[in-house]
Formats: sequence, C-alpha cells, structure tokens
Amino acid sequence: MTDWLKTAREAVISASAVCREIQHQLISADTLTKKDRSPVTIADYASQAIICKALREAEAGIAIVGEEDAAELRRPENAALLDKIHQFLPGWQKNEILEAIDAGNSSGGEFFFTLDPIDGTKGFLRGEQYAVALAYIANGAVELGVLGCPNLPLPGSSDGGTLYFAQSGRGSFVGSLDGSVPQQLHVSAHGDKDPVRFLESVESGHGDLGLQEEIRKVFGQRAQIVRHDSQVKYAIVAGGGAEVYLRLPNPEKPDYREKIWDHAAGYLVVKEAGGQITDMTGQELNFNLGKTLAGNRGLLVSNGYFHPSILKLIGEYA
Ligand code: AMP
Ligand code: MG
Repeated sequence: MTDWLKTAREAVISASAVCREIQHQLISADTLTKKDRSPVTIADYASQAIICKALREAEAGIAIVGEEDAAELRRPENAALLDKIHQFLPGWQKNEILEAIDAGNSSGGEFFFTLDPIDGTKGFLRGEQYAVALAYIANGAVELGVLGCPNLPLPGSSDGGTLYFAQSGRGSFVGSLDGSVPQQLHVSAHGDKDPVRFLESVESGHGDLGLQEEIRKVFGQRAQIVRHDSQVKYAIVAGGGAEVYLRLPNPEKPDYREKIWDHAAGYLVVKEAGGQITDMTGQELNFNLGKTLAGNRGLLVSNGYFHPSILKLIGEYA
C-alpha cells in the first residue's frame, strides 16, 4: 500500500525547495500570462512536474487535478522557458517535464489528488507569501492535505519555511521544510474579550473588500487585519495566529467560482486543527462537483468560536 502522506510530504518538500531557489533569481522573462490573464512562472511548471512525477511513480494511474498544463510550453516560441525549467530539474529529459506537467490534467473522479503547484503566484512574484498545495479527495471528502509554505516561519518563530499537513481524523501538524519534528496544531482559543485577527487576500480583486471591512468594523477596536496571498491564510488560522479568514465574492466577478486546488489542502489543515470552514451561507464546502466549488459562494474560515456570529453578520450585511 502506498503511504500517501509520506509521498505527498516528500513531493511538496522537493517542489518547495525548487520554488525557493527560483524565487530568489526570477526575472520577468520567466513568466507567461495565461488566458484568464493570471501569471504562470517557470516555478509553477517545475513544481507541478516534480509533484506529478512523484505521485505517478507511487501509483501509475493516480488521477491528479492540477492547475497548470503544458500546452503553452509545447509551443516553439516558448522553448526558452522550457530550457529554463530544465535547468532547475537536472537529470530530467525535456519531454519528461512536459509529460509530468500534463499528468496533472485529470478531471477528477472518485479518488484524486488536486494540486496548486504555486498558490499565490502574484505573491511569489512580489517576493512574498505563496504555498505549494496538495490534497487527496476520496468520494468528495478531503482525506489528506499538505501545504508547503517556503516563506512562512514556524508559529512563534521568525525564520525558515514550513510544511503543514493533515490527515482526516488524525490531526494537523507543522514542521520546518528542512525536517524538524512536527508539532500538532490547534486553532486559537480567543473568544469574547480578545482581539479578533482577520486575514484576507492581498489581491483586492479576489474578494469584497467593502463588505469584509463592514463586518470587521462591528468588532471595533478588537479587530485587526493582516493580508497574505495564498493558502498560508489557512495555515495561520490552523496555527492559532489568526481567528478569522474571510473571503467574500468580488461583486464585479459574479461568475467566478473558487477552484478546488485553492482550498482543499488548507481546508483539511484547519479542520483537523479544530477550526471551522463553510461558505458565506454556512454550507459545507462541496469538493465533489469538478474543478470548482460550484455549489458554494464565498468562504468563512475561523477558530470555531467566531463562526456563528460572523455568519450572522454576513447574512445581515450581504
Ligand atoms: P489569494 O492569494 O488567497 O487571493 O488566492 C489566490 C488564488 O485566488 C489564485 O490561485 C486564484 O485561483 C484565485 N482567484 C483568482 N481570481 C479570483 C476571484 N475573482 N475571486 C477569488 N479568487 C480568485
Ligand atoms: Mg491558487
């Protein structure tokens, strides 16, 4: 039997190391703009290649729903970009890189992995937070979640990158990316009289800043706000570093639906740390509807204590 937790952790650690190396020396020519106008870098491709190869070596037919595909990289005009990726993957054939990236193009099924090789590419490009996010979903339930957070220190520390991981029913843990003994995570016990630390996206287009602010204001002086890119927000809630992560839909993009790879790993990491995750109406997230959370709108992640009061506020204000 494959030890999927071990395989997934090792794959995310390898991919995070390459992302880290690339982030330190990235130049603008290492980036493409996708059809939806979002950026993709050589690091997104390298990360997806490394993780898909590792999962496929563990089980040849395993389904992987990844964010990226190699179509652009196969075009002759992007040969230089493929060369650059190749430099960071010594020992690989170029064809192997393309095939490994495209191994992540499954559409799902009963059992599958979902992968965001770099969640928060815009943060990655700014030299800020990003995450390598991998989750295993079986019959719609997230069974395994791993988040590599190369720029996020251990809770209570100031340096080093971190690996957050959770298995359904077995708790949530964090260790350093270079292999410290993992410690179990618990969400914050903050309640009635304590500060309420809110997290939201750096990118203003990924939420409803106005409504999010109105809700925060209800908590007056107790409310604090920190903005980070990517699923590191889930990691911070799981580690007790914030009480609430609010992501309400951008009113200018009514048709946008959240992608499963942007939430599955973080969801389990928070859930297993004792937190709560629903959409903005209080419904459970449904990971069984293809590549998007088509049945959900907006997201509320919390330490549990603040969940009912904030859902009520969303109901009143939205
Ligand atoms: P974050 O840094 O938490 O905002 O998350 C980054 C992710 O937001 C990216 O991986 C995108 O898939 C996703 N995203 C892109 N457009 C939107 C949108 N309009 N609303 C919500 N999320 C979005
Ligand atoms: Mg993403």
